[in-house]
Amino acid sequence: MIYLDYQATTPVAPEVVQATRPWAENHFANPHSPSRWGREAAAAIEVARDRVENAICLPGGSVAFTGSATEAINWALKGTIERAKGRNRIVTIATEHAAVLDSCEWLEAQGCDIIRLPVAPDGLVDLGDVKAALDERVGIVAAMLVNNEIGVIQPVAEIAEAAHEVGAFMLCDAVQGLGRVTIPLGPDLIAVSAHKIHGPKAIGALWMRQGAEPAPLIHGGGQEQGLRSGTLSPALCVGFGMAAKLAAERGRQDHDHIELLWQAAMAALGPDWIVNGSSDQRYHGNFNLRREGLDAARLISDLRDIAFSLGSACASGSGRPSHVLRALGLSDTQARSSIRLGFGRYTTEDELVDAVTRIDAAARAQQDIAA
Ligand code: PLP
Repeated sequence: MIYLDYQATTPVAPEVVQATRPWAENHFANPHSPSRWGREAAAAIEVARDRVENAICLPGGSVAFTGSATEAINWALKGTIERAKGRNRIVTIATEHAAVLDSCEWLEAQGCDIIRLPVAPDGLVDLGDVKAALDERVGIVAAMLVNNEIGVIQPVAEIAEAAHEVGAFMLCDAVQGLGRVTIPLGPDLIAVSAHKIHGPKAIGALWMRQGAEPAPLIHGGGQEQGLRSGTLSPALCVGFGMAAKLAAERGRQDHDHIELLWQAAMAALGPDWIVNGSSDQRYHGNFNLRREGLDAARLISDLRDIAFSLGSACASGSGRPSHVLRALGLSDTQARSSIRLGFGRYTTEDELVDAVTRIDAAARAQQDIAA
């Protein structure tokens, strides 16, 4: 199989498997217990925490581990609004991940006021719209760094600056950005996920600028400085830490490899494909493409040995056209004619060119049959 679905999840790095194994196999101690074994597990978790903080690479904050980035985002939004002393307005963008949009919808049902900003046809939010939506009623602004469906990069530093001018906090969903693009200075809260950087699933983290810690969402044993209760998994934390270490060390190498793959994929594509979203403000490991008249769902089932997707894993599962592609102004038909190819560290140029050539040929064959 040729795996081209790196935005859904990434292959686990061999170094992560190796680092995780002893903690999954033998070292079963509770990292919150005072025994020697417990303290060893706690120490391994602290090394992992340092590694995740290093990969995020911003001053003045620290991370708490969570069960996923979805949890980190829920916590950041709900816990900040709880602390925001009557500032119950949230500003976000129509193309955010469901973790943000659905949390906002839930908060709306609790009485919050939600402003969902539109994007231009290139997928980028207008900074003038952001500023116009901001005043002292806003508790938090949520904007993602790299979009999971179309790969465009929002102006997060500028959004954070505008949020701070009215005294609001800023949450950045950097799940698709960590290890791929530099996380800019500015956000107060940053959500990340291990499985998007070649780490294990079911572990994420929330980076919190000192003083911006949200109220806890999960209560219990008081772990993570009383902010997020629940026994941590040393195996998952160590795996995340190793993935973060590799991301930090291999940043340049991974970036150059992805540039090479992007160029190769562009050259192999036929002329009838259009890239969805900005072509310059974009992470190049995400190739979201459409072709007039294409039945993308059929293309996927025709090419079962190539793993790629329809816009996003969530949108694909539901059968609904992607809310992101709709926000760009695409029709339902255009959204259903779009595919997402995601590649990265372990994709070879040969397999990518082979897959793109076959996708192009299968798309042309569909049109020949239809004609
Ligand atoms: N945010 C973005 C941009 C994502 O792509 C994802 C995963 O698809 C998430 C949040 C949720 O991450 P997790 O799978 O860790 O809950």
